[in-house]
Amino acid sequence: MYVQQASKSKCKVAIKPLELENTKEPPLNLYKPKGPYTASIVSVERIVGPKAPGETCHIVIDHGGNVPYWEGQSYGVIPPGENPKKPGAPNTVRLYSIASTRYGDSFDGRTASLCVRRAVYYDPETGKEDPSKKGICSNFLCDSKPGDKIQITGPSGKIMLLPEDDPNATHIMIGTGTGVAPFRGYLRRMFMEDVSSFKFGGLAWLFLGVANTDSLLYDEEFTNYLQQYPENFRYDKALSREQKNKSGGKMYVQDKIEEYSDEIFKLLDDGAHIYFCGLKGMMPGIQDTLKRVAEQRGESWHQKLSQLKKNKQWHVEVY
Ligand code: FAD
Repeated sequence: MYVQQASKSKCKVAIKPLELENTKEPPLNLYKPKGPYTASIVSVERIVGPKAPGETCHIVIDHGGNVPYWEGQSYGVIPPGENPKKPGAPNTVRLYSIASTRYGDSFDGRTASLCVRRAVYYDPETGKEDPSKKGICSNFLCDSKPGDKIQITGPSGKIMLLPEDDPNATHIMIGTGTGVAPFRGYLRRMFMEDVSSFKFGGLAWLFLGVANTDSLLYDEEFTNYLQQYPENFRYDKALSREQKNKSGGKMYVQDKIEEYSDEIFKLLDDGAHIYFCGLKGMMPGIQDTLKRVAEQRGESWHQKLSQLKKNKQWHVEVY
C-alpha cells in the first residue's frame, strides 16, 4: 500500500470516504479485548536519528476501514503471547494514541498510524540493558514486519478529541516524545487534508519536548506547515540535552511555556484549548510553571484551572 507522507505544496490532499465526516458522535470501543479486530501491519519505520536516546517508530496499520476513529483517539493493541504475570492468560491490552487523521496516512480511511517508543530496561545496578525485561507490546510493534497480523481494540478516548465547533479557535498543544502523536493527527487535518466540513483558520501552536535534534518527531511535516501557514501555525521545540533554559539548566517544555507565558495566558483567557500529551512525569513541572506564572500575574492558578476545566478548554492525556 502506498503511504503518502508530508507534501511540500500548499495544495491540500483529497480524502475519502467522505462519509467519515457524517457521524455526529465519535466511534467508541467497536472492538473489545475479548473480541479484537485482526488488522495487518503496512509499514514500520524508525523515525529518529542515530543520536536519539532510544528508538521511536512510526507504524502504519491496515484496518480495512473496519475500525474507524477520530483524531485524538487511541487504539488498544494486544501483543501475542502469554501474560507473564498470569500464566495461561493472553497478554493485556496496551493503549497507543493514534498519530494519523481518520483518513490515515494513505488518505483512504483504511489505515491508522501509531508512534511507538520501544520500552527497554536498564539494570539500575549494572547500567546494562536487560532484554528479558524489555517492554512486550512496544517491542512487538517496533519489530513487526509488513503483512504481520495485529490484534487491535477500540477506538477509545474522548478527552483529546479536536473540538471543531469553531474553525477559528486556538489550539495550544504541549507534547513530549510520543505525546506528539495526537497532535500530528490534528495538524494533518488542519493543514494537509482537504476537509470540506473543517476549514481551519485559527491558530495551532505546538510545543514539542524531546532530548535532542535527532529525537525530533515528524519535524519535516511540521516545518512544512510553518512555511505554508505562518499565520496559523507556531512550532516551538525544547531540546533538553542540547538547549539551556534561562537559568542555565536543561530546556524542558515548561521553560518554553514560561518564555511565552503572557501570550499563552491571554490566548487561554480568550478561549484557547490547551492539550498535554506524553509521559506522566511531564505534568508536575508544567503545572508548577503555570502556577508560578499565574501568581506573578496576580491570578489564582487554582481558580484559573477550574475555570479552564469547566469551559472544556483543558485536555490532558498522560501515561
Ligand atoms: P510492558 O511489557 O508493559 O512493560 C512496562 C515497563 O516495565 C517497560 O519499561 C519494561 O521495560 C518494564 N519491565 C518489564 N519487566 C520488568 C521487570 N521484571 N522489572 C522491572 N521493569 C520491568 N506509548 C507509546 O510509545 N506511544 C503512544 O502514543 C502511547 N500512547 C498511550 C496512550 C495512552 C492513553 C496510554 C495509557 C498509554 C500510551 N502509551 C504510548 C504507553 C503504552 O500503552 C505502553 O505502556 C508502552 O508501550 C509500554 O508497553 P510495553 O508492553 O512495551 O511494556
